[in-house]
Amino acid sequence: MGKTTGFLEHRRAFPDKRPVHERINDFSEIERLFDERTLEIQASRCMECGVPFCHSFGCPLNNRIPDFNDLLYRKKWQKACELLHETNNFPEITGRICPAPCETACTLAVNGEAVTIRQIELGLVEQGWKSGWIRPLLAPFKTGRKIAVIGSGPAGLAVAQQLVRAGHTVVVYERDSKPGGLLRFGIPDFKLEKWILDRRLRQLKAEGVTFETTVCAGSDLSVKYLKRSFDAIVLAAGSTTPRDLRVPGRDLQNVHFAMDLLTQQNHLIDNEAIPLNTIISAKGKNVAIIGGGDTGADCVGTCRRQGAKEIFQLEILPQPPAERPESNPWPQWPQTMRTGTSHEEGCKRFWAVNIKEFLEKNNTLSGLRAVAVEWGLSQEGKPPSFKEKPGSEFTLNVDMAVLAMGFIHVEHGPLVKDLDLATDSRGNIVLDKNSMTSHPGVFAAGDCVSGASLVVRAVVDGRKTAAMVDAYVKKL
Ligand SMILES: Cc1cc2nc3c(=O)[nH]c(=O)nc-3n(C[C@H](O)[C@H](O)[C@H](O)COP(=O)(O)OP(=O)(O)OC[C@H]3O[C@@H](n4cnc5c(N)ncnc54)[C@H](O)[C@@H]3O)c2cc1C
Ligand code: SF4
Repeated sequence: MGKTTGFLEHRRAFPDKRPVHERINDFSEIERLFDERTLEIQASRCMECGVPFCHSFGCPLNNRIPDFNDLLYRKKWQKACELLHETNNFPEITGRICPAPCETACTLAVNGEAVTIRQIELGLVEQGWKSGWIRPLLAPFKTGRKIAVIGSGPAGLAVAQQLVRAGHTVVVYERDSKPGGLLRFGIPDFKLEKWILDRRLRQLKAEGVTFETTVCAGSDLSVKYLKRSFDAIVLAAGSTTPRDLRVPGRDLQNVHFAMDLLTQQNHLIDNEAIPLNTIISAKGKNVAIIGGGDTGADCVGTCRRQGAKEIFQLEILPQPPAERPESNPWPQWPQTMRTGTSHEEGCKRFWAVNIKEFLEKNNTLSGLRAVAVEWGLSQEGKPPSFKEKPGSEFTLNVDMAVLAMGFIHVEHGPLVKDLDLATDSRGNIVLDKNSMTSHPGVFAAGDCVSGASLVVRAVVDGRKTAAMVDAYVKKL
């Protein structure tokens, strides 16, 4: 470690954000990057704590955080950037949108301000791109083995990059018009602009990965064809079946799934022609977002930018505490109240409410009826349950509603059916210890295995599965 007293001398810096009045007029990124000097100072706050929980417990990729902080403090930027890439294929993406469990596990966070690890990661990789240090890494030889990857989200991209670098021929099939999965068509531009993804995709293509888009594996390409043409298949198809809310009025016009809104907005930004009568727009509307999680927050920010009049976000769970409860100590991920950038832009949040009905006038949505609920403690291993509070019913006048209640599991479509894949009680694909599904030669990674999760976990999983596939095809 460079500076033994860095954390005593310097406070944590927070990145500037574009002001609300400016940013709600466009979909461009909100956070600004630190300059080089600020990053070196911030890296000097890393305090050689003996057991770096950020690396071993916090970061799912086990990024070597204390080591790159030290290198950065010593101004060895290129070495630090190389070290970062040893464990992370896409630091410019995690550096922007990872919730940074590394920071909540930082030893400084026990009673103070964590090292600003995510921003350091981002600054390092952006310096790497600017300086030309990030180049295609070409495999020294070709193995002659062919691998099909189904799905081009972060899991599929990590699998593809690791395997092509190991010398295999890799074809990625993506049913959407462009590669990237949720990185491209789910996550809004104000969190992740798409040129960032395209820049990394150019590296993958230069390394030899072939992308075949607008191809739905299982339908456009049969399972038989895939099995005949490839030595191994990796499913990285995501967890895309949304949780629905079957209450009266659910089928009214203007009640949408979150992904219909977010995906369409991303296609519009990408200048794709969308028939006018199918466009979902919150312009001038009162909007209810059902679901208090991150997808819901992305819907809040999207509706705000589309020009919504008022936005309400309703969540069935109680409001989390401001501070960690004793039952949720450091270095665990804190289950505390968060206010995201979308919330700063204006939205009324409701907690512990259950939606009873969508109301109708002239065949269109005119409001919703909800009730406050009280949560009981979980008993004997059963999940906690709630009771409605008598007399607490209320209505909200809304003319658009968005269901952002999470995802159930991977689609149980032709791929899962024709391969006859075993799934667990939650509907996710089951793997053996070698990341292989119940169908020999077919592997899986990412949200289709874990259920909806995080980009950083999809990348870890992709890397692990790639190592298993590599070992498997080498034995063929
Ligand atoms: C709105 C939203 C915001 C999010 N924000 C964040 C965030 O800020 N930070 C974070 O860490 N995580 C975030 N996440 C979670 C993160 O995006 C996912 O955990 C991650 O993308 C999962 O990666 P994946 O590769 O497993 O699947 P996906 O990214 O879902 O990719 C799966 C791909 O497979 C394709 N596919 C499926 N079936 C087929 C088929 N039969 N043939 C061909 N292609 C197929 C799909 O079209 C898709 O492109 C967010 C998720 C959502 C929905
Ligand atoms: S990937 Fe996420 S958890 Fe890991 S170092 Fe980066 S911000 Fe932290």
